[in-house]
Parts: sequence; C-alpha cells; structure tokens
Amino acid sequence: MWGENMEKYLRQIPAVDKILQEKAIKELVAQYSREAVVDVIRRANEELRERILNEDIPEDFEVSMVKVVELVIKRAAEWLSPNLKSVINGTGVVIHTNLGRSLLTEEAQKRLVEVAQNYSTLEIDVQTGQRGSRYDHVAELLTYLTGAEDSLVVNNNAGAVLLALSTLAEGEEVIISRGQLVEIGGSFRIPEVMEQSGAQLVEVGATNKTHLRDYEAAITEETGLLLDVHTSNYRIVGFSEQVSLEELVELGAEHDLPVLNDLGSGTLIDFSQYGFSPEPTVQDNVEAGADVITFSGDKLLGGPQAGIIVGKKEYIQQIKENPLNRALRVDKFTLAALEETLRLYLDLETAVEKVPTLRLLTMDSEVLRQRADRLASRLDKLSGLEAEVEQGFSQVGGGAFPNEDLATFLVKVSVDHLTANETGNRLRELDPPLFTRIQDEKIIIDARTIKDEEIDTIFTHFSSLIKEA
Ligand SMILES: *Cc1c(COP(=O)(O)O)cnc(C)c1O
Repeated sequence: MWGENMEKYLRQIPAVDKILQEKAIKELVAQYSREAVVDVIRRANEELRERILNEDIPEDFEVSMVKVVELVIKRAAEWLSPNLKSVINGTGVVIHTNLGRSLLTEEAQKRLVEVAQNYSTLEIDVQTGQRGSRYDHVAELLTYLTGAEDSLVVNNNAGAVLLALSTLAEGEEVIISRGQLVEIGGSFRIPEVMEQSGAQLVEVGATNKTHLRDYEAAITEETGLLLDVHTSNYRIVGFSEQVSLEELVELGAEHDLPVLNDLGSGTLIDFSQYGFSPEPTVQDNVEAGADVITFSGDKLLGGPQAGIIVGKKEYIQQIKENPLNRALRVDKFTLAALEETLRLYLDLETAVEKVPTLRLLTMDSEVLRQRADRLASRLDKLSGLEAEVEQGFSQVGGGAFPNEDLATFLVKVSVDHLTANETGNRLRELDPPLFTRIQDEKIIIDARTIKDEEIDTIFTHFSSLIKEA
C-alpha cells in the first residue's frame, strides 16, 4: 500500500519548469535571479523526495503545486534573507558573547557609516601625503587614557595574547601560576595559546596557592617572560593566594624579564564607585609596572571586537614588527568604532552615560522596576498567560565580575498551554528572536537588557503564542 502511494507522491512532484511558470515564483525570479530560484526549487523538490522516501509525511498527504510553491517561497525566504540578524536580549547577561557582546555607542555607529561610505585616512599621513600607520588613529587616546607608553590594536584579545607571547617568548619558557591556567569562553585556553605561540609553558604553585618563591625557583636561563592572567569567570574562594602584579614586576625587573598581563575584560573606569567589588583598571596595572597588558575591546570597554595591547615602547615596537601582527590586523571599521568609543572616555561621566555596556551595568533600579512593570502589565492583559514582576539578578558576562550580584527586576511569565522550555523555543523562532532565561519552570525576561521600544514586540510575540493554542 505504502509503496504505491510513494510512487504516486513522487510522480506528483512538479517539474522545475512547471513550477517556474507559477505567478508567485515569477515574482521571486524578478526579485532575485532565475538561477538562484531554480536552485531553491531543486532543493525544495529534493527535500520533498527525501520526506516521501523516508515516509516522513502525514497520512492525508498530497503533493500539490500550491504546497510546493509554498515550500519554495519559505525556503527562499530562509535562504535569501539575512542570517545574522538582530535579536531581543531578555537574558539579563549584559556582555553576552553569543549575542554579540557590547552594543556600540551612537557616535561609533555614525562613524561606521561614514567610514563605509567614504575613502578615509586609514593609512595616510595627511600632512606629508606619505604612507601612515593605521594604529596611529587610536594610539594617542590609548596612551593618554591608560598612561602606557605605546599601544597596538589587533583583531581580538586572544590574538593579542598570542601575538605578545609569540613576540616576547617564542622558543623560551613562560612562567605562570597554576591558578591562572584558565579556559575562557570554551575556546581560549592559556596552555593551547601558549603552544601555538611557540613558547614553553612552565606552571608553578598549586591551583589555590602560588607564592613569589615558586616563580623565583622556576626562573632559568631559558625563561623569557612572566605571565599574569586575569582568571575572569573563574574564582577560587577561601584558602587561596596569588602573587600580586607589583611583586611579579619586581621579580621580573630583578631578572630582566618582561611581565605580560592578560587583563581579559579590562576596564578604564573604577567600577567600585558603582558598588561593584574592586577590580584593577588598565591604568592601575600600567602603574603597577606591567610591561605589556592586553584586554578586549568589546567586553567592559564597550567598543567593537578588538584586542588592545598597551605597554612599554620597546616591547610594543617588537610586537608591531612581528609578521603575525599583519595576520591579526584590524580593519577600518574596528578602528573607527574604537576611536569613537575611546573618545567618550575622556570624560568618565560621559562614558558611563553614553557607552551602552556601561549604561546597562550602572542602571538605576527605579528605571528597571518601571520597565519591568510596564512589560508585565502589558503581558498580563493577555488571557492564557500569567506575568509578574520579581526582584532578581543580572549578570555582567564576558568573564567580568562573575560573582557580582547585580540587582534587577525580572518579568516572570508562564503560558498556560506551553512548558517553559517550549515557550523559550518558540520565542527564539520568532522574528526578531527573543532570548530569555528559564527559572523555576517559568520564562524570565530581565528588564536590564531589553529596550523600552522592544516591549511592543515582546507583547506581540507572546500574543502569537497564545493564538496558536
Ligand atoms: C575574554 C578573555 C580573553 C579572550 O578575549 P577575546 O577578545 O574574546 O579574544 C582572553 N583572556 C581573558 C582573561 C579573557 O577574559
């Protein structure tokens, strides 16, 4: 019986030429190209064939032209519409690596458009007309803001660490505390980066405790560098001890060894004034004497993806000359956005007001409460779901301040006919996708990371889930 149906269904799949004569398909051809549309039709037909052969079809199945055209249009939309698109971040994680980390300031956005539309002074010295350096555009700002002698910007912080290690310690030993051999974000592991750089890892101390004498005892003729890594999203609490950067710098100076400090998130403002636990700023570590410091552009700094390297001139010069630097080079968009972000830091109050990452991290709790209230009262008007406001915590993300309890207001939603998991999955499939958290079998939307203008869309998304029921 099935075999006969299978034959019948397979025969019912229309020929490509026939499908091309349909009005809706002709419109697709006009919009894109005949070639692209033919390709989509072939793939849609192949998909149908597979489903029929795998018996993955409903009982009352019928292969009609209408259905095939519908499928082609759906697949064309999926294939030909943007893949990297905006989402609503309801998770409360401010620096969410998977959702693109930091949002850019308006100033930076404008500069991106400008640089995209026009030729620019990327590598030209306007005064002499001679070739200039792309790194000069941000060098003055970076040295002014951090107090360092010189700077360089590369593709990301992982690249910055790799480049610094490869320049300063290739073929030599690098000493690091066992407590700092961390993996960050699942793909950045200090031992692996070290291996790539051609440096030899020498681990000292224990996971929870490392003393200065441990570093000292490990220094040999082969030692090229002392490495200090910010452990980011990993904390040892209780019986633990690490050597301070100052002590390490002193030891390095005694043995004529540079100290490289991977600061990870790296901030230019002292967050303790906003109630966060104390963390060294980039300036603090420059002052402490670190020879080279690396940090990310798109974590706490709130700029574009970049790896920022600051430090002593002699070392930065060597790093610039490493051929690997060319492979990690930043483009004009990164430089334009970074310059504009850094410029706001000339006045720290302006930075906190205008850099979205800083603004989100220092939001007033009354603003959060009001936003949560607005969303909850909109949603609560829908029958078929329950929404209420509750106090809770947001996360900084990006490996920064992992233990910080960032008080916030959450909207807790449960949809009558769906489990929290099902609701979360559906919300992600809508346009724009809405990302949420699940807690106690309820959907959680954090008022901190959504925008006021997204409340309407969130309301529409939930209405559409209820209409399905
Ligand atoms: C995030 C982080 C990195 C990687 O930085 P990217 O900019 O993501 O490449 C490296 N080291 C530390 C300590 C970090 O926190």
